[in-house]
Amino acid sequence: MAEKKEHKIIQSEAAKTASTKGVAAQQIAQSTVGLRIGSVVLWIVALVAEFLAIKASFVPSPAEDEEAVLFMGMAPFTALIVFLVIDLICVIAGSLLWKKANHIHPASEKNALTFWLWNNLGVIMAAIAFIPFIILLLTNKNADQKTKTVGTIVAVVAMLIAGFSSYDYNPYSAEEQQEILKMEEATATVFWTEGGKVFHIYEDCQHLNKSEELHQTTTQEAEEAGKERLCKTCLKRHEKEAVEAPATEEPAAVEESTEAEEQEVEESVEE
Ligand SMILES: [Zn+2]
Repeated sequence: MAEKKEHKIIQSEAAKTASTKGVAAQQIAQSTVGLRIGSVVLWIVALVAEFLAIKASFVPSPAEDEEAVLFMGMAPFTALIVFLVIDLICVIAGSLLWKKANHIHPASEKNALTFWLWNNLGVIMAAIAFIPFIILLLTNKNADQKTKTVGTIVAVVAMLIAGFSSYDYNPYSAEEQQEILKMEEATATVFWTEGGKVFHIYEDCQHLNKSEELHQTTTQEAEEAGKERLCKTCLKRHEKEAVEAPATEEPAAVEESTEAEEQEVEESVEE
């Protein structure tokens, strides 16, 4: 291995004050308590609406000579539809807040079942918010045929809409967030040379051994200076160190690079 040169580092102003406030770091610092409370409150309102829709379905239809009975100022069938719609809106709104909170403070994916349940609590809520209504309506001997048919169709469609919009199609995990955070921390400031095309995470990267003068800047500044991408050797080393205990900061990975790897990255060696 070529002898190492002491680097003369030219640090940019932005690099001196560079914070690691990347997306993941900001997420971790953010509170999701408000979002979680908001979604639980909306789901409770949804269940109350379901309860009222059930009550409306149990209002007995009037006999021939009787006046129609109102439920909360509405014809029972109208009330039933109105409360199902409120139910639907509240389930979806609650699920959207819940999903938003999960994408700020994600759950760990170590246990696949709890990870799925936590991410898709909205789907479960959609089931709870409509299935009891459907069962009670279908088994209600006093409800007329029109109420049963239309009420069931409306509730099933509402449940499907609520279920599909509550499902998290892109679940985010605590592990993914940690990976992003580590990458953000590692690339808060990077090293590069005047003549090179790439930027490096590590000052002692083997491709920087022959360089006398290094620039230390933010990643954005490196890109503005025409450095196209992150050095592959640095990336491999970072990934390796991220997997291992974060305590091992010694550049052991450099020595372990194989000949093949060195040739592969030959074009990125900088003088
Ligand atoms: Zn490198």
